[in-house]
Amino acid sequence: MQKNIRNIGILAHVDAGKTTITEQFLYLVSATRTLGNVDKGTAITDFLEVEKQRGISVRSAPVSFVWENTTINLIDTPGHVDFSAEVERVLRVLDGAILVVSAIEGVQAHTYTLWYALQNLKIPTIIFINKIDRPGADIFKVVDELNKELKANAIPVQFADNEEDINIEDLWLENSPKPEIKYLQEKYIEQLAEQDDELLDDYLNGILIDKNRIKELIQKQSFKAKMLPVLMGAAKMKLGVKELLEAIKLYIPSAKTDNSELSALVFKIEHNKKLGRLAHVRLFAGQLKNRDVVHNYSLDIDEKIARIQKVFTNKKEDVGELFAGDIGIISGMLQVRVGDILGKPEGIPKSTTLNLPLLTVQAKAINEQNYAQLAAALQELAGEDPTLDFVWLKAEKELHLKIMGAIQTEILQTILKNRFSIDAEFTEPTVVYKETPSKTGEGFVRYWMPKPCWAILKFKIEPGERGSGVIYKSEVSVNDIQKKYQNEVEKTIHKALEQGIKGWEVTDIKITLIEGEDHVAHSNPGDFIIATPMGIMRALENTGTTLLEPMLRFTISAAETDLGKITGDLTNMRAEFANPQFENERFTLSGIVPVATSLDYAIKLSALTSGKGKINYQFGEYRSCTDELGQTREYKGVNPLDESKWILHARGAYKADEWKL
Ligand code: GDP
Ligand code: MG
Repeated sequence: MQKNIRNIGILAHVDAGKTTITEQFLYLVSATRTLGNVDKGTAITDFLEVEKQRGISVRSAPVSFVWENTTINLIDTPGHVDFSAEVERVLRVLDGAILVVSAIEGVQAHTYTLWYALQNLKIPTIIFINKIDRPGADIFKVVDELNKELKANAIPVQFADNEEDINIEDLWLENSPKPEIKYLQEKYIEQLAEQDDELLDDYLNGILIDKNRIKELIQKQSFKAKMLPVLMGAAKMKLGVKELLEAIKLYIPSAKTDNSELSALVFKIEHNKKLGRLAHVRLFAGQLKNRDVVHNYSLDIDEKIARIQKVFTNKKEDVGELFAGDIGIISGMLQVRVGDILGKPEGIPKSTTLNLPLLTVQAKAINEQNYAQLAAALQELAGEDPTLDFVWLKAEKELHLKIMGAIQTEILQTILKNRFSIDAEFTEPTVVYKETPSKTGEGFVRYWMPKPCWAILKFKIEPGERGSGVIYKSEVSVNDIQKKYQNEVEKTIHKALEQGIKGWEVTDIKITLIEGEDHVAHSNPGDFIIATPMGIMRALENTGTTLLEPMLRFTISAAETDLGKITGDLTNMRAEFANPQFENERFTLSGIVPVATSLDYAIKLSALTSGKGKINYQFGEYRSCTDELGQTREYKGVNPLDESKWILHARGAYKADEWKL
């Protein structure tokens, strides 16, 4: 049977109150008898040990409940930028979102990032202004910020005064005796009228606009993600929570039901000691039952489902089947990974990038004997979060990870301790540089010794446009190199570019295979896999490479009096920025700055401005930089330029199947 379903993500900058709101919902629908509390470490959706200890959410946590005949699947998400990858995965399975903003802090750095992603994906969003109980809370100033800073088209549907006894009222009630409400109605009806010609006409002609018409318009626009209804409350005091629940039904469209062929997305992987790998999925079409054999489109394999469950409060319950529109947990699939598509791919929302990991660290076991265990643990964790891009250099005994920031390594350390009983530490992070050829050049390789082998290749490489990535083509006829061997060359290019001559991934490069030869009797596919990196590295050696460094696009806002100090800092950090804009004794200023020089600037800015300065940034682009300003690295592993050693190593590795292409 299919129900009325809403899949809702609850998103915000850290500490705005996401987990508290989730707890209140669960309490309200009587799914929990006692109220969980983040401050006491008893929140249900903060189930990892580290989340309880630190009071911050690290993983997304889905929980389902039924309220007035509607199944609500609520996904609490981490609010810290370091865990944005987790949020990205959740965004793909939502019918709508609640974006929580604190009435004290207002729009914060991460609010921007989340808002742009929600807007980009056209996800209907309700704003909840939380913590209105706190002294100094200014609800409608926050609404102004949303409209000015985010250009969000936010329309309040409630009114509350910040008095001793907080009372939340419907803003659009007719004939309210309160002058503040009348004032706000006037203010926002104009914004509403801009969305609807008929309403505008009536308004200009002085015709009374009734409440239902306004609600309908807000609903219609919200369904299309063109307007954000704003609600308010204090989750900790249970204020405004029930109204927020009602707003979900009103302003967020029900999940679509499509009974055709199965189409589902895996948005989270969890490990369970007994059941093994658990895949959290959302069904966009079709249905799933226990013991179904499912086609994993991404891996192109079939796997059998052992069990289907859903999370109701803190308990997983067997449901046996899932229908289009719903989310649930599947066990039994041994190879499934996060991001995999089950069934047909049509209709699955695209992914979006909130934040890229621009830093790299090495993990080390404090007790060296735990090294292999640590590698296995990191492999498991990278299966749950592929952005970690875990690389295990076996010969060097090195474990490399990519990360978003320092909090992430702190949390990883705690997870390794709690879940795997391993004491680990991480090196200081390094910026992830890239490299690109400095000019056009060629690389030639003749791999025909020691026999039996035969692969002759000549590559031309050229610098590509910034951001173009890797473009490969072959001009060699299949009479010279058979198609099957040419395919091996193409498949190996990516691997060959993992490290260039300065130790970083090579990008923005055009590669053309311009000459080559196979041998009827002596050539094997493996010969081309071994020869390609040799040819590419020689070409790179001939052209030389230029380092590329990651740059962040930023916006700073602070008091006018701090302008001089801040622009001084920015210049020292090699930032480029436009002229500041001034308003109400504050300025805002946007520009672009290297990651390498701005790692801890958010903290520094906060100290410099006594917490009143704000900076938000997002990955911008890679730009060239000198070796002196950047950083070069030793080649890790066996370098294809070290010919005889490379051939010996690559032959062994190829046989040992270590080269998964
Ligand atoms: P999250 O990081 O968004 O999940 O935020 P939490 O739910 O963990 O809450 C962060 C902190 O704010 C906790 O100390 C909460 O007790 C507190 N908090 C949450 N809601 C309110 C509220 O409505 N009023 C006040 N005064 N504090 C709140
Ligand atoms: Mg939380």
